[in-house]
Amino acid sequence: MASNLLSMRRERFAFLGLGSNIEDRLDHLQAGVDGLDADPRIRVDAVSSVYETEPVGGPEQGPFLNVAVRVATSHPPRRLLRACQAVEAKLGRVRTFRWGPRTIDVDILLYDDRTVRRRRLQIPHPRLVERAFALIPLIEVAPGQVLPDGRSLPAALAKLAPVEGVTMVGTQVRLPSEVRS
Ligand code: ATP
Ligand code: CA
Ligand code: CA
Repeated sequence: MASNLLSMRRERFAFLGLGSNIEDRLDHLQAGVDGLDADPRIRVDAVSSVYETEPVGGPEQGPFLNVAVRVATSHPPRRLLRACQAVEAKLGRVRTFRWGPRTIDVDILLYDDRTVRRRRLQIPHPRLVERAFALIPLIEVAPGQVLPDGRSLPAALAKLAPVEGVTMVGTQVRLPSEVRS
């Protein structure tokens, strides 16, 4: 194992949201999770249930499958974003128009308890608290996690009630460590 490499920087927890609305959606989510874990500085150690969600904003398009994952990572935030974008590129994501259909979207939802406000990276994700499709899976893998302003995730979700268009489905994304062992 590349333990020397990994020990050079401290590991932190981050929470990512993955979404796909181009078939095969579940395959794309699985490939996204596996692709993230293949980065030597990222270990995916928890994955939420899979949710089917109605698209929000953007053009007329098919429903998404969404999951959230918890990763342990020694990438600082901007490098983690680059790693997420590398996984999107590898899975053939083509950027058409804003909020258009995609094989895979990987967003950084939270990074430790940090706030990042840069032009190309805002953490928490700037639209997280408006999105039940992001908050619901996130709460599964981040129980007890609070937003940098101290608000709990369930409190943020409660503001969006009643929630429609977010349905847990009976399929699962495998954790890479389960496949290895
Ligand atoms: P949304 O950001 O509303 O979820 P999207 O995921 O479709 O929409 P993208 O085209 O994937 O948007 O990303 C646009 C830009 O958002 C990226 O190039 C990236 O620089 C920026 N960005 C800012 N904050 C984040 C974040 N927390 N996670 C991922 N990308 C981010
Ligand atoms: Ca997104
Ligand atoms: Ca994105």
